[in-house]
Amino acid sequence: MSWRCSGCGETHDDAFRSCWQCGASRAISAGERASEEQELEAEAAEVAAEDAEQQRTVAVAAYQEEAGWYPAVRADKWGEAARAIHRLVAAHRLYRERQDSGARNARPDLDRLWTQFYLACAIPGGLVLGEVARGSWLERWATNGALFTLVHLGALIPCMVTGRRVVGRELRAAAEAAVMQGQRSVPRVT
Ligand SMILES: [Zn+2]
Repeated sequence: MSWRCSGCGETHDDAFRSCWQCGASRAISAGERASEEQELEAEAAEVAAEDAEQQRTVAVAAYQEEAGWYPAVRADKWGEAARAIHRLVAAHRLYRERQDSGARNARPDLDRLWTQFYLACAIPGGLVLGEVARGSWLERWATNGALFTLVHLGALIPCMVTGRRVVGRELRAAAEAAVMQGQRSVPRVT
């Protein structure tokens, strides 16, 4: 494609934006102008979408902080443990509420993760119950403490890892849903 200068009539290759002879800039056709405008609009829309996404991320974090799930100030070891339990309770309440609300808020991915969590925790739970029921707990501890501890920890870790994941996702889903609905403050704190 080539274009003809409107000032002097010289023909130029498409790559040139202005006339080399008289310096007049290339007249842009209506179609070209429209496509350029479209490009600019698309760019603006992209920037706006990025801004909105960023704002949403900030709002989600703010919601989670306000809810007391993830306070900005870190606590000591026991404080953090208490918060983890608080998060578990809150997440589980949300899970139950979601179940009760029916298909409207269905999150089968999260439901599956909760099931995994229950199963993962059933193993250390069963181990502990078995030991307590048989009364061999202290005996075993005394004879082979290290192995005993290892087995229990080994069973406990998948439970904790799954729990951490499911709690994180459930709380995030709740915060995102709340932000989407325009709620910012949390009426109820467990
Ligand atoms: Zn020219």
